[in-house]
Amino acid sequence: MPFTLPDLPYSHDALEPAIDAQTMQIHHEKHHGGYVKKLNAAIEGSEWDNKPIEQILSSLDQVPRDKKTAIRNNGGGHYNHSLFWPLMAPGGHAGGKPTGALAEAIEAELGGFEKFKDEFSKAAANRFGSGWAWLIVNEPDGKLAVTSTKNQDNPIMRGLDDDEGLKGQPVLGLDVWEHAYYLKYQNRRPDYIEAWWNVVNWEKANELYQKARI
Ligand code: MN
Repeated sequence: MPFTLPDLPYSHDALEPAIDAQTMQIHHEKHHGGYVKKLNAAIEGSEWDNKPIEQILSSLDQVPRDKKTAIRNNGGGHYNHSLFWPLMAPGGHAGGKPTGALAEAIEAELGGFEKFKDEFSKAAANRFGSGWAWLIVNEPDGKLAVTSTKNQDNPIMRGLDDDEGLKGQPVLGLDVWEHAYYLKYQNRRPDYIEAWWNVVNWEKANELYQKARI
């Protein structure tokens, strides 16, 4: 099978109390695991089954028409969650504020951390239904920008007929599907978003920022 479910970089209960162990286990094993299984089924035996996920998602106009929706949803699901897990970390590695080049860019391009945090939280809270909030290096100008996408879409996807949101390389992503928070927070998505800031892995975000800038 071309794609496999990556291990979590921490235990299921490592992000408590922000994210409870049961949610983490179901989210990783069942939801992310399901995207991997269905993505593999959709590309099995095609020329796409040995391509990197980034290449597949940036060429969605070239995949077989009858597989496009399955590859979009499950390929997006696999890419997004693979990015999401290491962008969180327990205890001392997480929370607080951005560091390094990313911190400087947030100051210079987004009006400072508090303004950015507010803009990102609003993008996450206002995404209707299921989707993601993103901090990206915006493709046209190479500057940071906040955006959001529906379902498992993301800012690296190309070749969609019903596209929305900005395009670029993700630096930070937040899953606002109900499966990410409902067991603990029920309908209180803003409480989940607020708690998530305490487990952001800013070192990882800074690493993604520096890679995106090359
Ligand atoms: Mn999810």
